[in-house]
Amino acid sequence: MSETQEYTPTIIKAEELDPKFKYKLSKMPGAEKLMLCFQCGTCTADCPISRFSDFYRPRKIARMVQLGLKDRLLSDDALWLCSTCFTCVDHCPQGVEIAGIVRVLRNLTVREKGVMPIVFKELASNILRTGYVYQIPESRHKRREMQGLPTLPKPNLEDVKKMFRITGSSGILETVQTFDKVKS
Ligand code: SF4
Ligand code: SF4
Repeated sequence: MSETQEYTPTIIKAEELDPKFKYKLSKMPGAEKLMLCFQCGTCTADCPISRFSDFYRPRKIARMVQLGLKDRLLSDDALWLCSTCFTCVDHCPQGVEIAGIVRVLRNLTVREKGVMPIVFKELASNILRTGYVYQIPESRHKRREMQGLPTLPKPNLEDVKKMFRITGSSGILETVQTFDKVKS
């Protein structure tokens, strides 16, 4: 914030708070330690995305979860900016897994709001179609061969399809709505 900018406080209404939210979330794998966050800010200071974004702040996400601001969190496309680099997890003095909390919040957004950025849908569709996150062109395979690198393992697409079906991911990919821009 520059010296000339005025500070605008965020107004939170009591009816926005869901006091049970933090307890529900802390039962989900990856978010178990969210109550241990004491807001030191190390995660935000070290997060590579926060360095380039005006509003992506992992510390703030942890606080919003503790306060129970579920609707705000699930409608905030900032959630999709996390690159899952795990720097925050490595550096948190309390062992809070912010990257895990973000993953849980993304899953809830997909389940309850039925939306995700188009790029995430495309990556998941690639896995379902080819077994790889990115489609690997034939030229890349040839280059590997020319350089004496081993051929890439052939994915078992039947197993991949089965995994998508059992986890419900195939159904999600068919019905999920997408948006194409995540503000930075
Ligand atoms: S580093 Fe850990 S304790 Fe500190 S604000 Fe981030 S999540 Fe909370
Ligand atoms: S995992 Fe996400 S929140 Fe944590 S440091 Fe990396 S980009 Fe930031």
